[in-house]
Amino acid sequence: MIPLRESFRDIPLYSPPKRPCRVDLSDNTNLFGVPPAAERVLRESRPESLSRYPRGYAPDLRNVLASRLGVGAACVTTGCGSDDVLDSALRAFLEPGEVLAFQDPTFVMMPLFAKVNGLKTAPVPLRADFDVDPEALLATGAKVIYLCSPNNPTGTPLSRAAVEHVVEKAPGIVIIDEAYVEFSSAPDFMDLARTRQNVLVTRTFSKAYGLAGMRVGWGVGSLALIAEVEKARGPYKLTTLAESMAVAVLREDPMWVEVQVVEARRNREHLRAELMSMGLSPLPSEGNFLMVPMPDALGVAQRMRERDVNVRAFQGLTGVGDALRIGSGPWPMLEAALAALRESLR
Ligand code: PMP
Repeated sequence: MIPLRESFRDIPLYSPPKRPCRVDLSDNTNLFGVPPAAERVLRESRPESLSRYPRGYAPDLRNVLASRLGVGAACVTTGCGSDDVLDSALRAFLEPGEVLAFQDPTFVMMPLFAKVNGLKTAPVPLRADFDVDPEALLATGAKVIYLCSPNNPTGTPLSRAAVEHVVEKAPGIVIIDEAYVEFSSAPDFMDLARTRQNVLVTRTFSKAYGLAGMRVGWGVGSLALIAEVEKARGPYKLTTLAESMAVAVLREDPMWVEVQVVEARRNREHLRAELMSMGLSPLPSEGNFLMVPMPDALGVAQRMRERDVNVRAFQGLTGVGDALRIGSGPWPMLEAALAALRESLR
């Protein structure tokens, strides 16, 4: 018998069902393809460079991001996906046994990261309008509060007033996860990361930027806050190739990103109209996906998978119940999903 860690026994392995599928709308990635600059970097990359470590802490990417935001490079951190930035931030600011508060429902990895880091969790239900309840979050007394806007899996944004209230009164750090912010017409919260000592805003190249497979995420905060996250993260979380691609896409492909974002949003609204005409009630979304409450979502998703379409099913979500989350992308993919859904609803 190997000596296992007691608190790990009930931690599930994060593994949403995935098998090759003709149409995969399950993970909110960019379904339009890969940005041309990333393909160029791949073509031109020199294999010799791969035998050496990358430069520590991804300095080129930090510099490019920082100069775009008008902050110092020391106010930016990067990681192996924004997953890694979030996980590092929990380690940086919470001792094992301390509490992470978060809106519920939200990104499913957060409670998992909390458990792996030996933390207690305080889920706080979103209000009926899907905004956060600042007083309820603050009443947890948690040293770190996690917010997500637009929120995964609901797609709903948080209001400025509620987020500012939390930031103003929080006893510790407030993390604002903006993984889907490029798709949103609601204002973002990056200014809070620039001006408040206690705010970390995280973003990713996995969604609008089309680089989920390269694993690049980043975060912005005050000098003192980012210094701690950098300690927790370790030096080599970005590969040489990932850093080069992210920098190239930022420099060369802003229009490519913008065009895909516009299309994903337009198709999301077209999908919404079609779903409503089927009698369904998708939640208002500012992400590149729609949350569609329905009974027996697991069964419906299973039948859609049999028709070669993969969407994500949720069961018993706080304030939502059972629901399907359907990613937005090229219209033919969404048409295929609609056809499979029509056949799968019983
Ligand atoms: N935050 C949210 C809200 C997400 O939905 C995801 C991915 N599903 C992430 C963070 C992590 O993305 P990545 O690690 O690919 O940057």
